[in-house]
Amino acid sequence: MLTVGADGEDVERRLAGGGLACPPCGGVLARWGRARERLVRGRDGGVSRLRPRRARCRGCGRTHVLLPVTCLARRADETGVIGTALEAKAAGAGTGRSRRRWAGLTRRCGAGCRAFAARAEQVRSAFTALAAGLVADPPLPAPAGSALGDAVAAVAAAAAVVCGLPGVGSVARWHLAAAVTSGMLLAPSWPGTSANASWPWAGGV
Ligand SMILES: [Zn+2]
Repeated sequence: MLTVGADGEDVERRLAGGGLACPPCGGVLARWGRARERLVRGRDGGVSRLRPRRARCRGCGRTHVLLPVTCLARRADETGVIGTALEAKAAGAGTGRSRRRWAGLTRRCGAGCRAFAARAEQVRSAFTALAAGLVADPPLPAPAGSALGDAVAAVAAAAAVVCGLPGVGSVARWHLAAAVTSGMLLAPSWPGTSANASWPWAGGV
């Protein structure tokens, strides 16, 4: 699997122009049909249908599903919805109506939130290293008071660094998290050997 930007037309253009590389071998990816349809649940609970593009490497022949950064592997909720739930959980989530709203969201994303919390220190460490690899002296977030809070803050800090790179502009922090983890942000296998060096905003493109 390979993570791509949320703009489907841009992905098609890049594929047509040979602008997407195979992660294992660096070969040029070409269109290869579409993957199985999946349902994606938005912030308001509404469900949309998505059939991710599939691509095949002209070098090694492997096929890859091109998953937009708006989705995470094996999760029905949009990346941004899961990110908001994680932030609410980390913040201990408000009072009154907002508390009930956040409680509903964190319940909905329960398994994802638990998976993230279980590896919070590894996530913090990986995103801190990402920021340090991009600029000489990245700003360090203040301690949040919990491992989950520190991990959420490290994702935000890395996204702030990426947004400041030449030519990048604005990148949603959880979309960045989806991109650098190849959609595996909540999977037990990440961080591991699957670092995605070709995420959409790498190198300021
Ligand atoms: Zn290849």
